[in-house]
Amino acid sequence: MSKIRFNALKETLNRKPVKVKENKKRSSLFCKNVFNKDTMRQYLTKDAYKGVMSAIDHSTKIDRKIAGQVSSAMKDWALSKGATHYTHWFQPLTGGTAEKHDAFFETIGDGNAIESFGGSELVQQEPDASSFPNGGIRNTFEARGYTAWDPTSPAFIYGSTLCIPTIFVAYTGEALDNKTPLLRALHAVDNAATAVCKYFDKNVKKVTASLGWEQEYFLIDAAFAASRPDITLTGRTLLGHSSAKGQQLDDHYFGSIPKRALDFMRDLEQECMLLGIPVKTRHNEVAPNQFELAPIYEESNLAVDHNSLLMDVMSKVASHHHFKVLLHEKPFAGINGSGKHNNWSLATNTGINLLGPGSNPMGNLQFLTFFINTIKAVNDNEELLRASIASASNDHRLGANEAPPAIISVFIGAQLTKVLKNLESVTKGKLSPEEKTDLKLNVVGKIPDVLLDNTDRNRTSPFAFTGNKFEFRAVGSTANCAKPMTVLNTIVAKQLKEFKVEVDKLIDKKNLKKDEAVFNVLREYIKASKKILFEGNGYSDEWEKEAKKRGLSNNKTTPEALKAQISKKTIDLYDQMNVMSKIEVEARHEIELEEYTMRIQIEGRVLGDIARNHVVPTAIQYQNTLIENVKGLKEIFGTNFKKIAADQIDLIEKISGHIAGIRSKVKLMIDERKKANKLEGQKAADAYCNKVKPYFDEIRYHCDKLEIMVDDELWPLTKYRELLFTR
Ligand code: ADP
Ligand code: MG
Repeated sequence: MSKIRFNALKETLNRKPVKVKENKKRSSLFCKNVFNKDTMRQYLTKDAYKGVMSAIDHSTKIDRKIAGQVSSAMKDWALSKGATHYTHWFQPLTGGTAEKHDAFFETIGDGNAIESFGGSELVQQEPDASSFPNGGIRNTFEARGYTAWDPTSPAFIYGSTLCIPTIFVAYTGEALDNKTPLLRALHAVDNAATAVCKYFDKNVKKVTASLGWEQEYFLIDAAFAASRPDITLTGRTLLGHSSAKGQQLDDHYFGSIPKRALDFMRDLEQECMLLGIPVKTRHNEVAPNQFELAPIYEESNLAVDHNSLLMDVMSKVASHHHFKVLLHEKPFAGINGSGKHNNWSLATNTGINLLGPGSNPMGNLQFLTFFINTIKAVNDNEELLRASIASASNDHRLGANEAPPAIISVFIGAQLTKVLKNLESVTKGKLSPEEKTDLKLNVVGKIPDVLLDNTDRNRTSPFAFTGNKFEFRAVGSTANCAKPMTVLNTIVAKQLKEFKVEVDKLIDKKNLKKDEAVFNVLREYIKASKKILFEGNGYSDEWEKEAKKRGLSNNKTTPEALKAQISKKTIDLYDQMNVMSKIEVEARHEIELEEYTMRIQIEGRVLGDIARNHVVPTAIQYQNTLIENVKGLKEIFGTNFKKIAADQIDLIEKISGHIAGIRSKVKLMIDERKKANKLEGQKAADAYCNKVKPYFDEIRYHCDKLEIMVDDELWPLTKYRELLFTR
């Protein structure tokens, strides 16, 4: 076995158990490191507390005096917990999180120092952010960016640093992050949904979008990860022959969690608890060494922050346990990939889940209103929703024979399908008293019973209704949920706004009663949204054909999918809903295309390097041994040797064939890269996608063939069976 591989295996097998933190009752840890409402009530004056609450609930501005009081209280609290630094914590368009730590420490002359943190430092900072992607919004010389406190997401202490969630914007006002558009989208859906709720309950003042994500990931030993340049540099294996045993026995799913992984999870969960991330569920996933973690759902902005934070915390806790977390959507070929289901719903300040059936016919009509409007929104904007989850890594799932497909469709189950069918036949215009009674009793009145036994779930659907929420399953495991959540909430906001206009028109112009008007508009929406509803197997070839007939998009690659982000329709949508300006939309598009290009470029370089510098030399070394062997056989057997050495000679030839294959394909790939590098934007991304990337599979094919031909003793790269099954 090669030295690197041997050492990695030895290190892994000799791991001593890591000392885990004392297992504490989760509730006793919850939010201990969060400056949340409870802590604020303790630390703030009444005025300051009221000011912050009003900023959270009604988006009012916090004045200087109050900001000063809050920062001072935050500092006292943070110092009492051992924090030494603070940072504005934000989500630049890299998709990750960013922080720049400053010490509370301040000198006051004569060799003296104090701890200080003023209101202005809390409210606004100006990180030197010229290296963050900005898609041309901000020329380094003309306008700078600043971060501004987002009081709706509470500050927290991580390690010894007080982290203050912030938005990141240019001085010219454009958002340079993922959080700002999300906040605007949440505001839009609040306004639109609250207005619609008033048809049913005048007391509704605010509607909040909730998000419950489910994070899938792989855990592999840190020594193995370090032994593979592809995992180290790209987060996935670019080559590697499949293991004799993979996931075919389904013996991992929901199986007992291996001790080492469980120790990691325990520490991770306790860390999450302290940070206020309400993690609840953990289990083995389908693939070996694949796991899932899910929290209790929260308000979307907070849930997005918590997921971004979680991904960071996971890596840190994992390294303490000598693991590497692989968040990539497809770390191993032939083994299930990872996603991040986004469970989404809307709830009122009066405590009603708008996507949960009501307790009476009126409540159910409200449920149907939000249910059908969401379907219509997805129907009308499926291509944009697909774009919101596009990335080089998620392309390995969507449209690549893996769950779910690149075609967006909505699954609602047999019973709700029947309800929609009944609603579709509602008479146009005024309803007869008989029809009203029938609707109330037999259609709207029956929904709670219907949903209680809504057990027919369809795992192949990318967007499924699951009883009291929609589950957007096509989101990738590396994704920042802000992107899909911005799109979903924006399209639903626009849809609800239109719905209100249409219902009001029927009430005013056609003299219909409120519920008659609602029924009438919903009926038309059901008719108009038929193409998006699909109950069958989303992975099947038939669906692909059927979807094409229906006119649904099937954008299998990121460069194709992203186009929907800058269509006139999208730009108008964001503009109307005050979510993003044209400049902001175009900047994001440019950044995402560029990110795609760079990721494929890096993968191409790494693959070429491994193939030529690791695989080919190893193959030649083994081939030399074979040649020596054949020479020896010739010496012994003379002219007869050819028959006796036939297999060896065949192997020598095959190895030569694969080496030649690698050499020529790598060269062709590099030639294509050179051409692609002369291009920009869409053209560069297209070239990387269609000209460069196809060589990956071809190069890999030859490498993987060599892996099973070459002496295992010589093979330099940790094999799939070791990566996936060593514990
Ligand atoms: P699975 O998909 O693994 O079968 P579920 O469908 O039960 O699991 O999803 C559970 C997830 O859904 C949890 O993360 C939970 O917090 C979330 N969830 C439940 N209700 C809501 C809601 N009203 N809004 C958003 N997320 C929700
Ligand atoms: Mg789920």
